[in-house]
Amino acid sequence: MPAPHSTGIAIVGGGPAGLALARLLARAGVRSVVFEARPAGASSADRRSIALSWRSHLSLTRLGVDVPSLPGVAPIRAIHVSHAGQPGRTMLEARETGVEAFGFVVGYGALVAALAEADSSDWCVTHDAPATAIRDEGSQVCVTTPHESVTAEAVVIADGAGALLAEFGFETTTREYGVHALVGTVQVDRPVAGLAFERFTRHGPLAMLPSADGYSLVWSLPQMDAALLRDAPQIEVCEKLQTAFGWRLGRVREVGARATYPLVLKRTRPTVRGRIAVVGNAAQTLHPVAGQGLNLALRDVWSLGAAVAEQPDALPEALARHDRDRQSDRSRTIGFTDTLARAFTADPPGAGLLRGALLSGLDLSPPMRRVFARLLSTTPMS
Ligand SMILES: Cc1cc2nc3c(=O)[nH]c(=O)nc-3n(C[C@H](O)[C@H](O)[C@H](O)COP(=O)(O)OP(=O)(O)OC[C@H]3O[C@@H](n4cnc5c(N)ncnc54)[C@H](O)[C@@H]3O)c2cc1C
Repeated sequence: MPAPHSTGIAIVGGGPAGLALARLLARAGVRSVVFEARPAGASSADRRSIALSWRSHLSLTRLGVDVPSLPGVAPIRAIHVSHAGQPGRTMLEARETGVEAFGFVVGYGALVAALAEADSSDWCVTHDAPATAIRDEGSQVCVTTPHESVTAEAVVIADGAGALLAEFGFETTTREYGVHALVGTVQVDRPVAGLAFERFTRHGPLAMLPSADGYSLVWSLPQMDAALLRDAPQIEVCEKLQTAFGWRLGRVREVGARATYPLVLKRTRPTVRGRIAVVGNAAQTLHPVAGQGLNLALRDVWSLGAAVAEQPDALPEALARHDRDRQSDRSRTIGFTDTLARAFTADPPGAGLLRGALLSGLDLSPPMRRVFARLLSTTPMS
């Protein structure tokens, strides 16, 4: 293997968090290299759709990615929230929060492809380059892949799984929700542009997100049921979805290619040790119930990029400050998402009535609606 060569910041993982960070650093004149385990274009096979908040859309615009013009994108202007088998439903409108949309639904692959288009010579992505080791050498850090070793002033781990964290003393706690998300594209008889649905069922939320050609499904199900429906014939999946979702959008005609994802809550503490920082899913993995995972990751990325740009000559101090600054938003978002995920999945006596009351309360109380709607779009709270 050739002798290590030097770069500014090494980023392990070319998912949306790692790529957004590289773009942000380049804008501040800080050089970086992204090591991505998979070949170029591999993320286009990922079937999940991501609901990006209005705030994330604004952040990405500043990074040169125009979300509304990405292929297959659709805005979310209103969200219909209901609970299967219980009274109470509510309709949240983006205009109540003073923005034209809560955000946009975009395919994971389309977002990664747009972020990966290098727009500056200050950063690049090396594909087929899984980081196999990271060595903290005090005044610099060394990252090894099967092809090379690179020394950097700091390394940011954005590999989703956080596989290399334990040896540096990062502590990760994981709790499984006991359900998997079934995702896929859905065709219905009467689509309504801009309207998303969040329906709470016995096993958790069933979300139908508007997309350019129908709806994107994210359905929490016990692992076995999710696997069966992933592989079941078309007609059977349509029937099961129709029963769970109802007839709000007319007949469910087709549920296209599907995939499943295990749902867990994972949190890493701290997110910085010396010259090593952790961001994105490697720092926290959330239940998709409130669509907060990547939105929170982008806020972390923004803080991390700003800290590095402000103190490039004192990186350990800059990273430690970023870690402190991000604690309260991280804890609030993780807590909100986890409470929502558990409130609507656990089933203690009387819980059903409580959920109905919560939804009715949301419908009747304008201040409560505004707080909830703002959490979803992550616009600044007034
Ligand atoms: C079903 C589902 C629906 C979701 N919906 C939403 C939503 O509506 N809104 C929202 O905000 N979030 C949502 N999320 C969460 C969102 O997908 C994650 O927050 C986001 O993908 C995190 O990005 P990341 O870059 O940190 O990690 P990842 O997307 O996991 O990317 C990590 C990258 O690192 C690479 N990698 C792994 N190991 C190595 C290594 N050793 N060396 C180099 N590279 C490596 C991987 O190949 C991958 O490309 C959803 C998640 C799921 C599962």
